[in-house]
Amino acid sequence: RFIAFEGGEGAGKSTQIARLAEALRARGEDVVVTREPGGTPGAEEIRALFVQGATGRWTVETDVLLVSAARADHVARLIRPALEAGKTVLCDRFIHSTLAYQGCGKGVSIGLLKRLHRFATGDLWPDLVLWLDLPVELGLSRSTKRAAAQDSALPQEQRFEALGLAYHEKVRRGFAAFAADDPRVVRIDAAQPIDDVTAAIAAVAL
Ligand code: C5P
Repeated sequence: RFIAFEGGEGAGKSTQIARLAEALRARGEDVVVTREPGGTPGAEEIRALFVQGATGRWTVETDVLLVSAARADHVARLIRPALEAGKTVLCDRFIHSTLAYQGCGKGVSIGLLKRLHRFATGDLWPDLVLWLDLPVELGLSRSTKRAAAQDSALPQEQRFEALGLAYHEKVRRGFAAFAADDPRVVRIDAAQPIDDVTAAIAAVAL
């Protein structure tokens, strides 16, 4: 089974992924936790390039090709082999981030992004997408405070949060549209207390 976690900045995806992984392991499932862009050594190298472009080094066309290149490596070397071995894969972001950020946020054709995804992954789609939704301003204020790992070493004005509220609102509306159209995309209210978010996820994914 392949479950992707999606959502805007500061939605608490990593905490919830760790909690779901623990619950699934307690039930005897073999669980692999991974993330995008990244997840394999090669894809993490591509991620390092991608995040440098947060507010302008790359054009959106380059962004799309970088995240697609990273995903091709990640799927071929990690996700598909794990699924074929019967494991449960939990992935922090997947194709719906591309559709929401580069598609809805920056205006790249959704049809083109889906075609590229089919090429990059051999047509691999998650069985379930958990969209952790919260108001944009709340998410941005949470993620700007967070001093996490290497991406955050960039100066504030060069990080993705700096793209502004209007952009992140478009991204959020994109996720909402996917959830409305596709029963495999489930909205989880991420503004509730953290244990309630965990319970809402368990109700759908366990
Ligand atoms: O999930 P995480 O917050 O680590 O993602 C890193 C950043 O990459 C996010 O700030 C997100 O806005 C951005 N991103 C993007 N397009 C993607 C995937 C991620 O702009 N396709």
